[in-house]
Amino acid sequence: MADKHRPIVPPHKAERYLTLAVGLLVLIGGLLAVAAWRKEATSPAPHTHETPAPTLTPAPIGPLSGLTILVDPGHGGYDGGARCRDSGIWEKHLNLAVALEVEKSLVQRGASVIMTRRTDEDLCEEDRPAALTKKRQDMQNRVAMAVDGNAHMVLSIHMNEYRSRAESGPQVFYREGSSASRLLAGCIQSSLISGLSPRKERVAMAGDYFILQLEVPSVLIECGFISNAAEEKLLLSHDYQARLGEAIAGGVEEYLRLDAIGAQ
Ligand SMILES: [Zn+2]
Repeated sequence: MADKHRPIVPPHKAERYLTLAVGLLVLIGGLLAVAAWRKEATSPAPHTHETPAPTLTPAPIGPLSGLTILVDPGHGGYDGGARCRDSGIWEKHLNLAVALEVEKSLVQRGASVIMTRRTDEDLCEEDRPAALTKKRQDMQNRVAMAVDGNAHMVLSIHMNEYRSRAESGPQVFYREGSSASRLLAGCIQSSLISGLSPRKERVAMAGDYFILQLEVPSVLIECGFISNAAEEKLLLSHDYQARLGEAIAGGVEEYLRLDAIGAQ
């Protein structure tokens, strides 16, 4: 029995309605897809490098109060530095991660810190003179930041590598002939050994690096060997990076104590 309240639709008409509804759905779907595509095309590209860390405010009073320290994460941008033997991660990324931990530990002790970079970038300019190599300009700009910022001290952070995978252990370098830099390097070397207990205990050494030409105490810290499997793993861990930061800042603190004794 047919329900009299239900409109009777002839079969061919129902078919037409169905086609119309499907057509509408396809049209709406298409419009939505175009809208989504347009949104994707016009929205800014996602950030591919680290978000700049905010500048940290030094503790009001601490053992390093009144001291301005330039912390230089080595390499960056076009210059990756060395490469982790197992993970393939570039040295520049590890340098930055450790340098930010160094900054944190120094600031907690009252120091003001100038960072040469906070993201994955080099310090080259677009209109570089033709005679100046990229690397040279990059290095000159790092040195200029220390001079312009009246830094009392320079800490350049790097990772070491060697063809033999057996080599390991952090090592600090200073400029030959600079007794203050030599003392600073010795203090940081001891602090790295006592704070990290590396398998191989190295000694601070004189080294010929561009960043060490400054008059103020300056050191280049090779935090460990990324060519050594066990040490690479350590250097990639945030916990170890934080411990490196603490050990390096502790070394700076010890240097100031010894320097003050020497000055008396
Ligand atoms: Zn390096």
